[in-house]
Amino acid sequence: MHNIVFHNVSKSYGNKEVIKQLDFEIREGERVVFLGPSGCGKSTTLRMIAGFEDITAGELRMGGTCINAMAPGKRNIAMVFQSYALFPHMNVWENIVFGLKIQKLEPSEIKKRADEALAMLHLEGFEQRPVRSLSGGQKQRVALCRAIVKHSPYFLLDEPLSNLDAQLRQRARQDLVRIHEANRSTMIYVTHDQVEAMTVGQRIAVLHNGMLQQIAVPQEIYDNPANTFVASFIGSPAMNLVTAKLDGGSLIMGNTAMPLPQRLIAALAGRSDVIVGIRPENIRLLPEEQAGLKGCCQYTENTGNLQTILLHLADGDKLFVQSSGVRRAVIAGDHAGIEFSWEAARFFDTATGCNLQVHKKGEM
Ligand code: ADP
Ligand code: MG
Repeated sequence: MHNIVFHNVSKSYGNKEVIKQLDFEIREGERVVFLGPSGCGKSTTLRMIAGFEDITAGELRMGGTCINAMAPGKRNIAMVFQSYALFPHMNVWENIVFGLKIQKLEPSEIKKRADEALAMLHLEGFEQRPVRSLSGGQKQRVALCRAIVKHSPYFLLDEPLSNLDAQLRQRARQDLVRIHEANRSTMIYVTHDQVEAMTVGQRIAVLHNGMLQQIAVPQEIYDNPANTFVASFIGSPAMNLVTAKLDGGSLIMGNTAMPLPQRLIAALAGRSDVIVGIRPENIRLLPEEQAGLKGCCQYTENTGNLQTILLHLADGDKLFVQSSGVRRAVIAGDHAGIEFSWEAARFFDTATGCNLQVHKKGEM
């Protein structure tokens, strides 16, 4: 079995703890994305799995065996680094087969694996090219080939596409998913890009300050973020988060009191305030006179299929509203009302930022 299990894994550099108590499992054959901002500990976590960094506390198990002290070469891992780490004086072919020659594989097997990888990544015909003559995208694909030919049960990728332009990235993403569907290795893909995470991951592990915030399928991360950090990291623009007061049976945003349905009154009982989270696409614009919540449009962005509007509410809160199909174009300076359904709202604790999961309690 080729799973990876973290048991309270922590990592410190000196007295600075950069990874805190990771405790989760990556299942055999699964494609998991580590997502988080720069410096949150993604690379460090990957490097601990690969054996390039010591584990300060806890236990890391691969395939049922504790690997805390196992040498990197024994872990049967293929890894792709953001920096490519190719041999600059070798050509494409030599780079790809280097590791296999060290392993003393049969020449026929080496050729078979290399040809297969070159075809997967559309690099046929590049075999004799010196690496230094390649573009960034081509180097990246050579680095991927070199990892793929190892046929390892574990495949670790650290921001492998970050040096590519947008179009190449999309194609490379599709290639990677296709390769994974074919070889079913246990794959971890590191990125700070939420779109990449949503499209590549079967599950996404969101990291922040060395701590796991949430691990779930992409749609769950999007629909039901575990806390305000995850809510504000996923989505473009991210989920709107507005602090509101609770009074009797009403939610008060700014000066506007909105009566709550009974199930929310019950679920939020005893609280005086709460953070309300609403995705921009779940807010509808109305003529000003028809709505309780009103605001003024500060700026708009139109991408053809989507209009994104930044609305300043009268009390100073700011909200993004997004609508597909620009039926009623709004321009800066326009006044508008908004509405949203309680089913689309998420509620977070004002002190901890944790999702109160109230929409799961009682009927919707
Ligand atoms: P990410 O890959 O998510 O951008 P890293 O894993 O590279 O983040 O870094 C996590 C934290 O650990 C950062 O605060 C970084 O400064 C720190 N760090 C990484 N490597 C070292 C090191 N060798 N010595 C000290 N601190 C380090
Ligand atoms: Mg990194």
